[in-house]
Amino acid sequence: MEERKKKLVKQIKIDADKCHGCRACEAVCSAFHSDPKYGTINPERARIRVHFDPLRNMFVPVFAGPYTASECMGRDRYIIDGKEYDECLFCRASCPSREIFKEPDSGLPLKCDMCENEPPLDEPRCVEVCLVDALTYEEREEEGEEEERPEELDMGLEALIDKFGLDKVMDTVLRISSSKKEQGRGLK
Ligand code: SF4
Ligand code: SF4
Repeated sequence: MEERKKKLVKQIKIDADKCHGCRACEAVCSAFHSDPKYGTINPERARIRVHFDPLRNMFVPVFAGPYTASECMGRDRYIIDGKEYDECLFCRASCPSREIFKEPDSGLPLKCDMCENEPPLDEPRCVEVCLVDALTYEEREEEGEEEERPEELDMGLEALIDKFGLDKVMDTVLRISSSKKEQGRGLK
């Protein structure tokens, strides 16, 4: 009998009631993804952001999800347990209507990659540093093929093409590539 394929589903469960807004998750995420690794800390570069309003005792961690080239035509406003949440607060997308989940210098989209690493980590860094278990990590197997996930480079290029157009991006890549080749020849 043919064996059914299994895929590994990785999940971070968020219990917002336990979050007290320490923002350690943002700090460690930005450090883990800095170059060199752990070289800098800048929560603006984190792939998780904690929305907080201490006066209303409201802390909501949100993970960076897919990049989208266009913003929504309508907006959502939630009221939960009597607390009204801002528009777009629960949305995970890196989108043109707001600054969140964009690399601050380049504006390129950021997306949570579950802390991909070689060798793999036991659990993502943000989960590791969350001492109150507002974030917990789970893995499970499901039937089905592994989906091919777009590389970070693909997502960045797509955003550049949406912003500047394909021709301009291609021209720039060709110009930089020939200048690098010239520099290489000069060094020989
Ligand atoms: S580390 Fe945990 S408690 Fe601290 S802000 Fe992040 S989710 Fe909240
Ligand atoms: S799982 Fe890793 S990449 Fe995703 S938000 Fe947490 S620390 Fe950042």
